[in-house]
Amino acid sequence: MCNKIQPPASAPETLRYRGRFAPSPTGALHFGSLIAAVASYLDARAHGGEWLVRMEDVDAERNVPGAADDILCTLDAFGFAWDGEVLWQSRRDDAYAAALAELTAAGVAYPCACSRKEIAARTTRPAIDGGLVYPGTCRSGLAPGVAPRAWRLRVDNVPLAFVDRLQGEVVQQLEDDVGDFVLRRADGLFAYQLAVVVDDRFQGITDVVRGADLLASTPRQIWLQRCLGYPTPRYAHLPVATNVAGEKWSKQTLAPALESGMAAAELVRALAFLGQPVPSELGRATVAEVWDWAFAHWSFAAIPRQAAISAPATAA
Ligand code: GLU
Repeated sequence: MCNKIQPPASAPETLRYRGRFAPSPTGALHFGSLIAAVASYLDARAHGGEWLVRMEDVDAERNVPGAADDILCTLDAFGFAWDGEVLWQSRRDDAYAAALAELTAAGVAYPCACSRKEIAARTTRPAIDGGLVYPGTCRSGLAPGVAPRAWRLRVDNVPLAFVDRLQGEVVQQLEDDVGDFVLRRADGLFAYQLAVVVDDRFQGITDVVRGADLLASTPRQIWLQRCLGYPTPRYAHLPVATNVAGEKWSKQTLAPALESGMAAAELVRALAFLGQPVPSELGRATVAEVWDWAFAHWSFAAIPRQAAISAPATAA
């Protein structure tokens, strides 16, 4: 177990529920992102908790100009009310750098000089969510005169298990399944895994409700939490909406942007996707009426325990 800095902290069971929605501004919100927003919002409200919005714009290369503002306007038009200020990852470099420095000082993070080509020359083993398992080339230090490119976190092969509220028990052996993973990329940008863990801790998140496409990342995030002595939130990974080809609706699969004029209908569709028994008259309701129904009837237990469900791209 990674506990190089502090002993692992206990789970946040006694803390007040605090959830979040963390979109990446790589494009407009679509039906797939709406599902995560609706479920995380309703789970927070059902627990009498808070719901925060974090803009995950750490990957500057993938940000689309105007998308972040567009996402916030869409959330507003769809009737979401978030607590506090939006947290912008692009303003959090100092916090990520401090966490990396802590991990480096504890001897669990190390500089890596490998290019993709060099990694591919040493291994063909596929990692659990794409890419290749890092073969550990730079683990015991860089050759003299070699410049570091990225920073990686050392992992071990002890099975790392957690129980997801929807997907059940998940187990990974990080060394076999992903290898030492990147915390800071060769282009200098901090990696998603580090940013999300530092920010979930900073924002006091007790409950993460998000799409099952991120399930495979969660053991890495738990490992990082243990390395940094952070508590581990509870996790619920929702079924993701897929197209007829079984691909997740995303910008890459040309998911259409949500239309504010269709907000009530799209919310009803998201609720139905999440297994909620929406009455047919809700189809003619206003946004406020849909939320009133949802606050009164939300059932976490009704969410399908599946990783993916096929759904059309729009309500129209
Ligand atoms: N920013 C990620 C996304 O839009 C979500 C990250 C998370 O919820 O942990 O897919």
